[in-house]
Amino acid sequence: VVEMGQPEHSVVTTCAYCGVGCNFKAEMRGDQVIRMVPWKDGKANHGHSCVKGRFAWGYANHPDRITKPMVRAKITDPWREVSWEEAINHVASEFRRIQAKAGKDAIGVITSSRCTAEETYLVQKLARAAFGNNNTDTCARVCHSPTGYGLGKTFGTSAGTQDFDSVDESDVIVVIGANPTDAHPVFASRMKKRLRQGAKLIVVDPRRIDLVRQPHVEASYHLALRPGTNVAVLTALAHVIVTEGLVDRTFVEERCDTDAYADWAEFVSDPRHSPEATEAATGVPADLVRGAARLYATGGNGAIYYGLGVTEHSQGSTAVMAIANLAMATGNLGRRGVGVNPLRGQNNVQGSCDMGSFPHELPGYRHVANPEVRAIYEAEWGVTINPEPGLRIPNMLDAAVQGTFLGLYVQGEDIAQSDPDVKHVTAGLRAMECVVVHDLFLNETANFAHVFLPGATFLEKDGTFINAERRINLVRKVMEPRSGMGDWEATQAISNAMGYPMHYDGPAEIMAEIARTTPTFAGVSYEKLEQGAVQWPCNDAAPEGTPIMHIGKFVRGKGNFVITEYVPTDEKVGPRYPLLLTTGRILSQYNVGAQTRRTGNVAWHAEDLLEMHPHDASERGINEGDWVRLRSRTGETTLRALLTERVAPGVVYTTFHHPVTQANVVTTDYSDWATNCPEYKVTAVQVSPTNGQ
Ligand code: SF4
Repeated sequence: VVEMGQPEHSVVTTCAYCGVGCNFKAEMRGDQVIRMVPWKDGKANHGHSCVKGRFAWGYANHPDRITKPMVRAKITDPWREVSWEEAINHVASEFRRIQAKAGKDAIGVITSSRCTAEETYLVQKLARAAFGNNNTDTCARVCHSPTGYGLGKTFGTSAGTQDFDSVDESDVIVVIGANPTDAHPVFASRMKKRLRQGAKLIVVDPRRIDLVRQPHVEASYHLALRPGTNVAVLTALAHVIVTEGLVDRTFVEERCDTDAYADWAEFVSDPRHSPEATEAATGVPADLVRGAARLYATGGNGAIYYGLGVTEHSQGSTAVMAIANLAMATGNLGRRGVGVNPLRGQNNVQGSCDMGSFPHELPGYRHVANPEVRAIYEAEWGVTINPEPGLRIPNMLDAAVQGTFLGLYVQGEDIAQSDPDVKHVTAGLRAMECVVVHDLFLNETANFAHVFLPGATFLEKDGTFINAERRINLVRKVMEPRSGMGDWEATQAISNAMGYPMHYDGPAEIMAEIARTTPTFAGVSYEKLEQGAVQWPCNDAAPEGTPIMHIGKFVRGKGNFVITEYVPTDEKVGPRYPLLLTTGRILSQYNVGAQTRRTGNVAWHAEDLLEMHPHDASERGINEGDWVRLRSRTGETTLRALLTERVAPGVVYTTFHHPVTQANVVTTDYSDWATNCPEYKVTAVQVSPTNGQ
């Protein structure tokens, strides 16, 4: 970090890392940022920050930044720097050529949860209006797409129910498949403050995360389940709540579909779902499940926070619905201190989903098959919208291998490193005729690209990021884009070059269109956001936004209980692959590390380590710090061993921050049955010493 004296001026903006959405003052001298100071009036962070937001913005000036557009005919050719005009015309002519040869569905886009809401809106519009298809997907495919499905089915909209401040009134905090201390540090501090005041904590996680035991904070229950058994544990919790008479009957009768409740109650009451019957599969002692269920149901305001340890499973959507069932059955919805809250990983993953990035949904989570919704956009955009959902990312890659999908525009996403089964991803990318990567650095996906468009950092753009509590935070430009063109301007230029006109004069005008066409954003404008960040829905019914959702009535009307049958994953341990691998993050690094690895503090350049229980390590002759080979039926990698009892015998754990380790070479191609979200959290592996090889 370079401290450069007193600032000449400052600009308030929003952190570009996680879904907490902290506001900062970027303190400037000339056109250089000298410090990022957490903003005391930030509604999500109240003047706090973590090391990433405070210090890890130096990547904006890193020499690895690509600042000129580049093209090449073949991926084995060297890159050739070109003007923006030549690059954009090349993209448009290649995409038009592919559509003429293979049909209009032969190209698509991937939007980025790192970019602004306005930028993702334009990219999905590019697909729907300029390409004429719904082939738009987002990196949320690989993280919170089950949240979209599960909360949509049960509550009627796919977003967290509470604002962060709500936790101050929680009596029982339940953390499932999330590690807030590392992944959402500022909100973790809010949680810990409430826990120190006496709230109780239940953690459901295979690993003993920091929150389980900290100074003055200790979980009442840690359900250290076997990876892949979330649904069995959640259904066992429901079994206890129903069979022990702990259901909030008034809430269920007044607020929920009582027929659906009756079916669900009968289902969970079956003795095969009892904690005792499921103990062998889940590895969680029955008395702990019973105790946790009683605490959540009777301990006062119960709030559930969950993360990718819930969603990134073959039953990710089922687990989200099982969580929603628990909250409805106990009446823990529709007021402060309670709720169901997905902890979003990326700064704008909520926003990218809100903006219609999925192939089956237009902005505001409205299905493309709905003619009334299509009519709104057809009138606004002057095109006919295909009522059929487009391709998801894995389907795009499958189609590429089969030769029917040949062109892809990827904005701010590194699918060759972040998506599962890397061999399949790279095979799909190799098979395409025009891959356009729009990013800050030459990432792994750029190895397969024909066009590279230099992207802008969050410091170089205006727009909005929407955080995990649905808060629409302004992002303000503190310096001009180093490439000379903003991300939204590049998307607009591609559209114009392809023959579909876009003529926005800036992100505020794009937001005005979003507000015109999306009822949950109808009251949003930059003028309003300048007065303070609001939470959607923000419209005539809620002009100042909506901190708590589902008060008095669910978005879908009556809350919907869904049967959640546990189906074990097909990924099984056996003699060849006897251990289960699960994955997560560390505090100082962010996702694949493209930004955090390019900051000045080399102490943060931590490598990915393999956590192993000492018993498993000694059986294999592995000592602390040894290099080990991690192998699955999909691939293998090497990394150093860290011996710890944080993980149970039979379970190993690593992070996925470093491109050398490439943890995703070992993850499988199994995915959530409803959304194709990859099953990153369960991989059967073998671990052996490398013996220096
Ligand atoms: Fe940025 Fe998240 Fe850290 Fe806040 S908690 S500073 S949003 S990374």
